[in-house]
Amino acid sequence: MTANAPSQPVSSWGRLTVGRHRVSRVSSAHDVSGVLRDRTSSMLAVGLRRSYGDVCLNPGGGLIDAGHLDRFAGADWDAGVVEVEAGLTIDELLRVSVPRGWFVPVTPGTKFVTLGGAVANDVHGKNHHGMGTIGRFVRRLVLARSDGEIVETSRDLQPELFAATIGGLGLTGVILRVELELTRITSAFFEVETLAVANVDDFFRINADSASWPYTVAWVDCFATGAEIGRGLYMRGRPASDGGLVVHGHPKLAVPFSAPSFLLNSLTIQGFNAVYRRLASPGRLARTHYDSFFYPLDSIASWNRLYGSRGFYQFQCAVPMARGAEVIRTMLSMAAEARQGSFLIVLKTFGDLGSPGVLSFPLPGVTLALDFPNKGDSTRALLGRLNAVAAEAGGRLYPAKDATMTSDQFQQAYPRWREVERLRDPAMSSGFWRRVTGASA
Ligand SMILES: Cc1cc2nc3c(=O)[nH]c(=O)nc-3n(C[C@H](O)[C@H](O)[C@H](O)COP(=O)(O)OP(=O)(O)OC[C@H]3O[C@@H](n4cnc5c(N)ncnc54)[C@H](O)[C@@H]3O)c2cc1C
Repeated sequence: MTANAPSQPVSSWGRLTVGRHRVSRVSSAHDVSGVLRDRTSSMLAVGLRRSYGDVCLNPGGGLIDAGHLDRFAGADWDAGVVEVEAGLTIDELLRVSVPRGWFVPVTPGTKFVTLGGAVANDVHGKNHHGMGTIGRFVRRLVLARSDGEIVETSRDLQPELFAATIGGLGLTGVILRVELELTRITSAFFEVETLAVANVDDFFRINADSASWPYTVAWVDCFATGAEIGRGLYMRGRPASDGGLVVHGHPKLAVPFSAPSFLLNSLTIQGFNAVYRRLASPGRLARTHYDSFFYPLDSIASWNRLYGSRGFYQFQCAVPMARGAEVIRTMLSMAAEARQGSFLIVLKTFGDLGSPGVLSFPLPGVTLALDFPNKGDSTRALLGRLNAVAAEAGGRLYPAKDATMTSDQFQQAYPRWREVERLRDPAMSSGFWRRVTGASA
């Protein structure tokens, strides 16, 4: 443990800003209590900092790096319930659970996230329409608070604190342990069907036909225009029954340094998109390992460096279904016209299963995610326009990805934010929270 360590530059996955932080590495509950007791500034617990913006940053203050709180505290492999320390990653959990026939019930598009980080952002996955967010599978949390208390919370124990901690962006205290229900699998493989999508209307038609598929997502070609806006590929998957309980391997490729920005100019991205479209074979049902299906980007370590030293923004919104098709068309047109180029555009519908978390991002409707290399003012201007369209449609932006939403947009979209503010541990703060609520450090 290094309480009140010297300040050092730290950034998040988008590498947009580098703020100075005092980083304290902890590997036990005792360490966490010591760091909280001896703090000289506001603190924030963080995992692998796979969030893109400032929810995992606390510039000028302290970070509690929970990545070494990574042990199993207990497991019932008959019932599929584990109790793990909050710094354990999905990667590490799957290495132990998959051979025993259990998978995470909900997973984001990378397995390099901690369970604490996944709970604090209440992450969603390709199965949101059938399973909701990860918070629905959390049975109990153990939190360290800065007054020295260790608190257990669940839907029955201190339920308001539980609701403020699921999706609570690390503000209610340091999550020490997570008790999580897993999902039974008989194979590590999934049957995946890939269909060509002609445009936005076609996406909604295919999506309506895919309700029986537990996992769905679409990739959109950002260079399609006019009647072809929304062109892309629709992937739908279901668990396979054979193939064995084979655990994933380690990443084989890495990006060793920040790529020069010309590597990611719009021509490069057009080439990437064209290759992607050719490689996938629409209409084919393929047996695919969970690692390729859920985590295609994990095969290249540090892929965020491809965007160069100025970093990149990610935009992700959710908008109600009634306005979905129109809003998605508008946003894709704005992105195409701005010629900012996006490596990956992901389109998916959310279901109506509510989360216990009061700040949870998903709402019944459709979600669109785009990333943009940081070209300065022009990129921020485009993001400002996209944010405004989402807000006008009654939608919201995802804090885990955000670096630009205004406090008005946040407070309108998340009207229950004051419940988290009321239960916020007074020692905890983040760059994001100060930006969107005006709270002081
Ligand atoms: C390639 C990629 C794909 C992604 N796909 C998805 C997706 O499909 N769906 C989705 O929902 N998200 C997705 N994300 C976002 C990612 O899942 C979240 O940002 C996740 O929270 C990151 O986990 P982390 O361990 O890195 O946490 P960090 O980014 O370090 O922290 C995230 C939040 O959790 C808090 N926190 C972390 N640990 C603790 C703790 N022990 N106690 C209290 N608070 C804590 C932090 O304060 C912060 O507010 C993706 C990210 C990447 C890079």
